[in-house]
Amino acid sequence: MARDTGASCRRCRREGLKLFLKGDRCYSDKCSFERRAYAPGQHGQARFKKQSDYAIQLREKQKVKTMYGMLEAQFQQYFQKADRQRGVTGENLLIMLERRLDNAIFRMGFASSRNQARQFVRHKHVLVNGRKVNIPSFLVSVGDEITIKEKSRANAQINDNLEAVERRGIPSWIELDKNSYRATIKTLPNREELTMPIQEQLIVELCSK
Ligand code: SF4
Repeated sequence: MARDTGASCRRCRREGLKLFLKGDRCYSDKCSFERRAYAPGQHGQARFKKQSDYAIQLREKQKVKTMYGMLEAQFQQYFQKADRQRGVTGENLLIMLERRLDNAIFRMGFASSRNQARQFVRHKHVLVNGRKVNIPSFLVSVGDEITIKEKSRANAQINDNLEAVERRGIPSWIELDKNSYRATIKTLPNREELTMPIQEQLIVELCSK
């Protein structure tokens, strides 16, 4: 599968926001954004230039794509689906992205980043309702029970991540039983719980053109 392999920290600096792409490093003082909170490149520290509406909308879309680790074509598919659903398109879009299995594994604390979560899913460490699922874009539903496969419970990375779970916090739509490596989707995530500063209406305006 195609993926963007650019430097993660540069992307946070480009968006002017911590996107938590590198696991533990993001929570430490090694975080590049903490040390250099300005855009990368030769003109990164240049005086603020007024941006066009298009540039502002584009940056918002790039921010969400980077956060959830997806390329343009896939993102457009999510947008089309969200647009066809009832309700507010922007909210539908964000909720759908939150429901991705790789994101859920990250939110549950089994992985320290969405990238790592994607790898765990692809390497078949994860069961959904007792069945192996190795598709990171699988959408979780209310009542789904996500577990780490018995053989994978000795995985040092997963155990280290679970140790740090309290520090990172678990969203209220997830119930985690870390001793049995199990988490349940209690409800669908709602917009208020997505605390990252995302202005989804800008994305809708851009993608609807
Ligand atoms: Fe972003 Fe994490 Fe790099 Fe900090 S360490 S700049 S949060 S990817």
